Amino acid sequence: MSSARVPFSRAEIIAVGTELLTAFRTDTNSLFLTARLNELGIEVRRKSIVGDDAADLAPAIRDALERADLLVVCGGLGPTEDDRTRETVAEVLGLGLTEDRAIVERLRERFAARGWTMPENNRRQGMVPDGAVVLDNARGTAPGLLLETGGRVVVLLPGPPRELEPMFTAVAQARLSKHTAPDRLYRRILRVAGRGESHVEELAQPVYERWRRATQPVATTVLASPGLVELHLSTRSADPDTATVALDGATGELAAVLGEHLFSTDGRSLSEVVGQMLRDGGFRVAVGESCTGGLVTAQFVDVPGSSSYVETGVVAYSNEVKQAVLGVDPGLIESAGAVSEAVAVAMAEGAQRVGVVEIGIGVTGVAGPGGGSEEKPVGTVCFGVVGPGTEREARTVRFPGDRAMIRRQAARTALDLLRRVLQRRMRERATIRGSGS
Ligand code: AMP
Ligand code: MG
Repeated sequence: MSSARVPFSRAEIIAVGTELLTAFRTDTNSLFLTARLNELGIEVRRKSIVGDDAADLAPAIRDALERADLLVVCGGLGPTEDDRTRETVAEVLGLGLTEDRAIVERLRERFAARGWTMPENNRRQGMVPDGAVVLDNARGTAPGLLLETGGRVVVLLPGPPRELEPMFTAVAQARLSKHTAPDRLYRRILRVAGRGESHVEELAQPVYERWRRATQPVATTVLASPGLVELHLSTRSADPDTATVALDGATGELAAVLGEHLFSTDGRSLSEVVGQMLRDGGFRVAVGESCTGGLVTAQFVDVPGSSSYVETGVVAYSNEVKQAVLGVDPGLIESAGAVSEAVAVAMAEGAQRVGVVEIGIGVTGVAGPGGGSEEKPVGTVCFGVVGPGTEREARTVRFPGDRAMIRRQAARTALDLLRRVLQRRMRERATIRGSGS
């Protein structure tokens, strides 16, 4: 390790596995590895996925080592013929392989402890390239390996995430942290609801352009998913206080331009933020939902401890249940239509009554692909929030996308609408208190 470059300037990851090139398995290891490397201030500059084929893997390793000073290869360390990573790496680096008796003994014991005899295949997992450091695997048979070659470090890890994760955490702490620069990457995540990606970008861009060129630069990445936009801010510094000051500064300016659309700057989800507001206000909530089919309630109960503010969720999909359970007037459904703000509010009132709670939420819409009309096309969703107290809020939104996207956006919007109601109420209270004193 002594001759390896300090610090690492370029990390690459190769995920090995033919299954990762199918439509049925995703490479998630590289996301875990990237998160851990970033924590050490090491940047991942490229990653690739290669099947279990030495003819593909060998050039991938050779190319990566032309560029990277840290290469992490995961997968293909199993005992079967198709697991070629160990041999291929040794071949590319021109290293011999020798059986490590201690590893083979440990493997035999592992099998014996379960009352099995070790298949001879598994002996391959005891083959160690010359000069490699063996990394223990507490949760499986394949040991990991760490090699140093021409100022570069190569780490080989088994594919199963539950094996790889503790192994990489250990090797990162014991060996890679010595190769990191004194500066670290600090991050902040800002979450925005109720505004599309381009709108958020338009508001935020002047701010993050300025911070990108600041003395302590802050980089911004925009990530959008249905009903949610995230701004990921990051800055690199050897001094945590310098990083915090820069991230606070950028966050403050972004908060000013994003206004009430910004709901989280501390990593909390919308469900957590709304849950906290309900808890703070001492309010309980009940949901009457149609097209979201329980998603709104599910979002609330995603958060541990939500039982202190969630009373019930009624999935009132048919008009009969909207009437019988939520007490919606059939005449109203007839006159306004099942998908209408009036019915959404009536569903919210029904839920509030059924739950005997301060706040009711109602959601009704057209998730598609059928059932749309000219007046209410697919994607039209109506929301009602009643309470706390005299609060009454109704909204109609037309969401883009397919059925799944529409339902997901609708569920988020219901929570966001409640958040805005609660926020407005808190602001009003603060103003009244402020003017009274
Ligand atoms: P291997 O070490 O190649 O025998 O990997 C065994 C299993 O680990 C595979 O069948 C996958 O289910 C899982 N696996 C391998 N590589 C990855 C990866 N990059 N991300 C997530 N899972 C993986
Ligand atoms: Mg494999």
